Amino acid sequence: MISRRKSRKIWVGNVPVGGDAPITVQSMTNTLTHDIEATIAQVRALEVAGADIVRISCPDEESTLALKSIIPEITVPVVADIHFHYKRAIEAAQNGAACLRINPGNIGSAERVKEVIKAAKDHNCSIRIGVNAGSLERDLLEQYGEPCPDAMVESARRHIQILEDHDFFNFKISCKASDVFMAVAAYQQLADVCDYPLHVGITEAGGLRSGTIKSAIGMGNLLWGGIGDTIRVSLSADPVEEIKAGFDILKSLGLRHRGVNVVACPSCARQQFKVIDTVAELEQRVAHITTPMTVSIIGCVVNGPGEALMTDIGLTGGGQGNHQIYIGGEKAHRFNDGDKSIVDHIVAMIEEKARQIQSQKIAAE
Ligand code: SF4
Repeated sequence: MISRRKSRKIWVGNVPVGGDAPITVQSMTNTLTHDIEATIAQVRALEVAGADIVRISCPDEESTLALKSIIPEITVPVVADIHFHYKRAIEAAQNGAACLRINPGNIGSAERVKEVIKAAKDHNCSIRIGVNAGSLERDLLEQYGEPCPDAMVESARRHIQILEDHDFFNFKISCKASDVFMAVAAYQQLADVCDYPLHVGITEAGGLRSGTIKSAIGMGNLLWGGIGDTIRVSLSADPVEEIKAGFDILKSLGLRHRGVNVVACPSCARQQFKVIDTVAELEQRVAHITTPMTVSIIGCVVNGPGEALMTDIGLTGGGQGNHQIYIGGEKAHRFNDGDKSIVDHIVAMIEEKARQIQSQKIAAE
């Protein structure tokens, strides 16, 4: 059981981050923000995938204005991604953003900082301080010689100080680097010096496969150590994949459960049905189910009965197409795939189980 670092709870719109709140999963749109239709469509796809929070870039006034039309059409809270320009931050707060991703040390004059923080307070916006090893302040680079965890934490502390000096505490912090060792060390140090919620991620992690692996190693290490209140897997891929990867990382650590967790064997000469094809089709067919449950799809009796003991629904391949189905770890019935589809059969069982779990939940409320 992972013991989570005790952090303060803040709010991103109606979504709590930190404290005892579940670890949230977020992503970022990659449409042109002023293409309102495309941005809404992408946010909705992220919502369907389970995104708790979505970040939207606001590089210009057209984008902050677009928020006004986008936000009423979506349900997840929006983090407006601002770099440097204080006016964009104020506009985003006025136009419905739930959080501003801006570094107060980069805003400019004290007057501008004050105005941005006032806008955040007036519109109940939280702030995310986003330290990145690739864009550290020049004086810190000169002092430390190169990007390093100490310099990143020093940068974060400066931004924290500015917000605290303005009596603003509704913020979270990220301290990202594309180097796994640097990012992990920076987050570990930051976790020791403050109790603000941490947004954890490995920046610019890479493509779908390599980026997911890199993120799972870096973020997995931190989350296992109890560090992290909200996560984003940064992939050069469809943002929906970021949400899926984020949930898979949390599921692997037992930190969050959403949807069907499929346990499957890699298959070999002993398989009694086509495990790989079955799993690929099954995962696709049950992607819409949000009810947490575990399903084992195992090619033969070597590991099938053992895995089925630990899952809600289990399938173990048997001879002559005669497979064993388990429910709640117990043998339930035999299923012959002679003229029927295994996937259809398992999907029907999963849907029934989801219905049962939901009605039990409603009855308990
Ligand atoms: S469970 Fe059976 S089919 Fe699957 S990999 Fe192991 S031995 Fe092969």
